[in-house]
Amino acid sequence: MNENKEVARIEELVAVLEKYNYEYYVNNASSVSDAEYDNLMQELMELEAKYPEHTHPNSPSKKVNGGVLSSFSKITHKRMMLSLGNAYNKEDLLAFDERVKSEAGTSDFEYMVELKIDGLAMSVEYQNGEFHHAVTRGDGEVGEDVSHNIRTIRSLPLKLNENREFEIRGEVYLPKAEFERINKRREEKGEELFANPRNAAAGTVRQLDSAVAYERHLDAFWYYVPDALSLGFTKHSETLDYLDSLNLKTNKLRKLVRNMDEVWDYIVEMTEKRPTLPYEIDGMVIKVDDLRIQQMLGATAKTPKWAIAYKFPAEEVVSKVKDIFLSVGRTGKVTPNCEMETVRIAGTKVGFAQLHNADYIRDKDIRIGDSIVVRKAGDIIPEVVRALPERRDGTQVPYEFPKRCPVCGGPLERFEGESDTYCINIECKARIVEALIHFASRDALNID
Ligand SMILES: [Zn+2]
Repeated sequence: MNENKEVARIEELVAVLEKYNYEYYVNNASSVSDAEYDNLMQELMELEAKYPEHTHPNSPSKKVNGGVLSSFSKITHKRMMLSLGNAYNKEDLLAFDERVKSEAGTSDFEYMVELKIDGLAMSVEYQNGEFHHAVTRGDGEVGEDVSHNIRTIRSLPLKLNENREFEIRGEVYLPKAEFERINKRREEKGEELFANPRNAAAGTVRQLDSAVAYERHLDAFWYYVPDALSLGFTKHSETLDYLDSLNLKTNKLRKLVRNMDEVWDYIVEMTEKRPTLPYEIDGMVIKVDDLRIQQMLGATAKTPKWAIAYKFPAEEVVSKVKDIFLSVGRTGKVTPNCEMETVRIAGTKVGFAQLHNADYIRDKDIRIGDSIVVRKAGDIIPEVVRALPERRDGTQVPYEFPKRCPVCGGPLERFEGESDTYCINIECKARIVEALIHFASRDALNID
């Protein structure tokens, strides 16, 4: 092939691969096999290596190698990146509705209800229709430039089919399946596990080497255009449809409703649907759809007044106590834990739960063999919420808190007015080993 033909082929490959990215990662329907896709990508990368001067800065190949940074640079948001106020029940939502109506002086508007994706907020700017940069929320005013990692998101077009200059905001997340795959791999390597997909997504976005992000398959949903009004839109719902038309991935499980009863019905519907979704959601977001009303309402120092986040209660699951055992920390503090039948909570399998201290077990009357309710509130180890005494069959055994340390056999002591129990033997192996682990850990000395 001569040079002209090869340069033309670059253009062709860029267009074809962008189309495939859209089909596969936004629409979940691909017209090409993985092998074929890889071959085309390989061909593009070879041609780009041969003709660097004809390589587009936002070529789809830039997803494969977004680059390596030595440090993150700061970017100031053009508009503050606020977080939302929270609602925990229908009463909170009704109070929000009242405030909105009274401040807006009208009840003639609709609410848009969207899923609250459990990821991390991201701002992306396009200039002349080209991906320009991506910034984390940071403190709301200044965030970190993580363009190199966000560029690796397959579903995110690096070039739009319109020469717009605008900012979009959304949530970057890891699909449940990816989270499990990554944690499984970490477990095999003896590495510390991520507590949840959000945690894993945050850890990935903070990597200096974009190869990690590419390998981990981050994804994103885009849900907000800060300058929508000046771009000529009058409804938030229209801006989401517009993002769709630009092949920017939005979440389709959104619903326009007329009042809080309809909001609540949809929340109930999505609460049921939640376990079947391929990504984690931690609530729902309710926004006034009319952009002029949004503008009229404005924001407090921290949160916009035209939107609120409804948070799901922590997921609770029933399991069964197999055993209760003690672990000894470096301060000598002895913590009771429960080994339980493995259950799936918030997307991860768990076989242990925290029991906190002796009083906790006694007050809740948690016995070995008991059916228990466990809850996960963000930590990797869930906690026992309560026992279910109505399920006892007579084989349950009340737990007697040991008098001696399970590691050194030394006496355990509980001091006046304290709820925790301690191994007071300073020679205790558990204390020394734990102390060494702590001493060598990242926090203390950063030794691997
Ligand atoms: Zn001990």
